[in-house]
Amino acid sequence: MGDAGGKTGTLYVVATPIGNLDDMTGRSVATLRSVQLIAAEDTRLTGRLCAHYAIDTPMVPYHEHNEVRQTAMLLDRLRAGEDVAVVSDAGTPLISDPGFRLVSAARDARLDVVPVPGPCAAVAALSAAGLASHRFHFEGFLPAKPGARRRRLEQLRETPETMIFYESVHRIQDTLADMCDVLGAERQAALARELTKLHETIRRDTLGGIVQWVAADPWQRKGEHVILVEGAAESDDGEGERVLDILCEQLPVSQAAELAAKITGAARNRLYRLALRKTRNGDGGN
Ligand code: SAM
Repeated sequence: MGDAGGKTGTLYVVATPIGNLDDMTGRSVATLRSVQLIAAEDTRLTGRLCAHYAIDTPMVPYHEHNEVRQTAMLLDRLRAGEDVAVVSDAGTPLISDPGFRLVSAARDARLDVVPVPGPCAAVAALSAAGLASHRFHFEGFLPAKPGARRRRLEQLRETPETMIFYESVHRIQDTLADMCDVLGAERQAALARELTKLHETIRRDTLGGIVQWVAADPWQRKGEHVILVEGAAESDDGEGERVLDILCEQLPVSQAAELAAKITGAARNRLYRLALRKTRNGDGGN
């Protein structure tokens, strides 16, 4: 109920395209047309989207530098019965984008919050990368400073799920190189670039292979990137790991992994990667 005892407005969290304008859903367009106000990360950018879809709803800026003040104002408008949509520059608001403070405050105030789902670079990349997708860890942006970035990667080294990272074009090569060093060059990974756009490329390879590919082709350093890295081989691979450790004392890694897989029924690739990692870390194998 609003301040005057009337009905309160609804906050819609509306996803917008990450490149291809045709990815705007019919419901997103209808919502942006029907609300009284759009809170946009960049009103000029969202203005272009609105012009394309003949949406003439008034807009206010809502970004990381004004979100405290704007949240209070937007809550007042919601309480007064107006419907508000929050959008970011691209994709789903709150996913490495502004919106959390507003949604959280709206929930605290027991206002209705309705998602209007659509594009999200992380989910788009995961859906086409061919890495395990039943569980995943969304990391978003790593720290920009090299030391902090490597420390965070070290904390993530044993994460068992596929990891999803966003990265800025300025740091893509440095970040991939750090991933290679810290997570291991032989880990499977994928680089999803310019999703939904003209020059979309999705490449799956080892981290080492991706580093080389990006170094060799300057095109691959341009645009927007999502990096996906497979999770750590579980150190607790039970019987497979026990047999692997014994065989690694006598045999080359690939043969040990193959035999351990045959004996125990564990996945050969998993055991192979586990053996490589142990060899690199100096805790067994040859
Ligand atoms: N909220 C957005 C979402 O739902 O995906 C993410 C916004 S975040 C500020 C921007 C980052 O998302 C980029 O630096 C890049 O890592 C990733 N990204 C956004 N659009 C992309 C695209 N078309 N292709 C690849 N990565 C993209």
